[in-house]
Amino acid sequence: MRDGELEKLLSRVSRPSRYLGTEWNAVHKDWEENPARMAFIYPDLYEVGMSHLGLAILYGAVNERAGMLMERAFAPGPDLEALLRQNHIPLFSLESHRPLYEFDVLGFTLQYEMSYTTILNILDLAGIPLLAGERTAAHPLIIGGGPGAANPEPLAPFFDAFLLGDGEEALPELLALVADLKKKGTINDRRRVLQTIAGLPGFYVPSLYEVKYNDDGTVAEVVPREKGVPARVSKRVIPDLDTAYFPTRPIVPFLEVIHDRIMLEVMRGCTHGCRFCQAGAIYRPVRERDLALLLRQAEELVRHTGHEEISLTSLSTADYSRVEELAQTLTAAYADRGVSISLPSLRVDAFSVRLAEAVQRVRKSTLTFAPEAGSQRLRDVINKGVDEEDILTATAEAFRAGWQAIKLYFMIGLPTEEEGDLLGIVHLARRILDVGRKLAPGGRPTVTVSVSSFVPKPWTAFQWEPQDRIEVIKRKQEMLRRHLKGPGMKFNWHEAEVSFIEAVLSRGDRRLSKAIAAAWRRGARLEGWTEHFNFTLWEEAFRETGIDPAFYAYRPRRDDEVFPWDHLDFGVSKAFLKKERRRAREGRVTADCRSGRCSGCGVCPGLGVDLILKGGSPGHAV
Ligand code: SF4
Repeated sequence: MRDGELEKLLSRVSRPSRYLGTEWNAVHKDWEENPARMAFIYPDLYEVGMSHLGLAILYGAVNERAGMLMERAFAPGPDLEALLRQNHIPLFSLESHRPLYEFDVLGFTLQYEMSYTTILNILDLAGIPLLAGERTAAHPLIIGGGPGAANPEPLAPFFDAFLLGDGEEALPELLALVADLKKKGTINDRRRVLQTIAGLPGFYVPSLYEVKYNDDGTVAEVVPREKGVPARVSKRVIPDLDTAYFPTRPIVPFLEVIHDRIMLEVMRGCTHGCRFCQAGAIYRPVRERDLALLLRQAEELVRHTGHEEISLTSLSTADYSRVEELAQTLTAAYADRGVSISLPSLRVDAFSVRLAEAVQRVRKSTLTFAPEAGSQRLRDVINKGVDEEDILTATAEAFRAGWQAIKLYFMIGLPTEEEGDLLGIVHLARRILDVGRKLAPGGRPTVTVSVSSFVPKPWTAFQWEPQDRIEVIKRKQEMLRRHLKGPGMKFNWHEAEVSFIEAVLSRGDRRLSKAIAAAWRRGARLEGWTEHFNFTLWEEAFRETGIDPAFYAYRPRRDDEVFPWDHLDFGVSKAFLKKERRRAREGRVTADCRSGRCSGCGVCPGLGVDLILKGGSPGHAV
């Protein structure tokens, strides 16, 4: 696109800096000198996408190599979308403002199910056929990765390939292959290209697999259509994060984004084994980074970005085995430079509070804990591994240390949940508020209860479980709303309809692609935003395509059922998940393998990797 054209366009939209691509540390590589060209697409608005650490990592990992380049694209806001459509302008990348169809590869990150209609919208805005089977050599390869690739089947017809697992090494490999195929002149043979990609470890090419169904509509098997295609595709895993690429010159946005700070990734994976948690399963094993390396990276990041906050990022940062030393060293090093340290996720224990206190000396905003369930029985069912005393002690510590506001995350609709478990949420919140009234300075604490609805996810012990019906969830929310009223108490909940669509898509099969396309055609997009989500569009889409969403969300899966994702391998064995499901029913907790007792999830032996801990003593007071 010519500059004048872009200026004209951007003068008519809100937040034009979303689309400029000239931020600090943005990389502008020469198009001609780099024959393998990829655009990384975050299927949501710029402000959401630019807060994604994966983008920063992959952007740097590709751009530091010769012969390949990566640019960015995001979903346009509704105002820009309207202008693009009116003027027949194809959606473009940020760095070079070239139409997306000129790239060799478009890589979508699949962070949550509610972005699936936006992906179709982006393909459409880019002038690219939605169905992989309708695309030719003239079109880019469309690939997907991230947590959605744990079960990419509902998206299978739209994608040429999915990357399972870590991307730092796999994406440059893919682009090197593309460069090679272009040099040899074989890039135009789409079928051969896809066959070659299927031979790369970690890449799943859905069109090379056939899905057979049983008479009752369940999956009978998923088999390769031709010889040489692996029967099961294993995820990629970086065995040692210390040797992996990490960006120390990330892009600094011009406008405020959701997480406007340095993200220092201290480790990958989580060993707690909460039985509802997909991230905890698919990112195993835990691989911690070396402390000295993290300190060096922090220093470079501060120097290269000017951010005033370093967030110690991971699924469960308080678990990092040298977290005290890391937090204290960083706090001491940066306090007088005005750079603060933050921990995005906290364990429900007093140690976490003291850690939070150590890093948040000045600004004591809200402290968040996630007990997840209101009763001990249910916390044991989900393997949360904390008891009421832990929670009360931790919140008391927090109030004593000066925090006024506590936020508590719970999930409703969990397997085996009864009314008593819901009342447990109320009692716990009230007890915490009482503690706060005694201990919080000023005596006017607030407790916010935030309740999401359980979504059964692939690769978890609860992947066999039904979701509560929308009307049941609404009744439960209403009951909690009635009880969680009064001074100091706040109550938030998630829309039950959104969780229902998430449940349908998360365990769905290829047939659902028709419903996604139908919902998009009716106008669904940017559905992660409450103001854009419209359940009626989905109801109409299911009716039009003859798909019964209840089959996916509400049906308890048979013990021996073949799942649409069984031909993929994220390392965690189905036998282990079945055992965990049994233990859940018996209310038995399974120990964290960080303690040295392997619980036999299958990841380490299956993928030939090890749990990497860096010593120190987690759980000790700061
Ligand atoms: S195989 Fe054992 S040590 Fe490795 S992640 Fe699984 S439970 Fe932990």
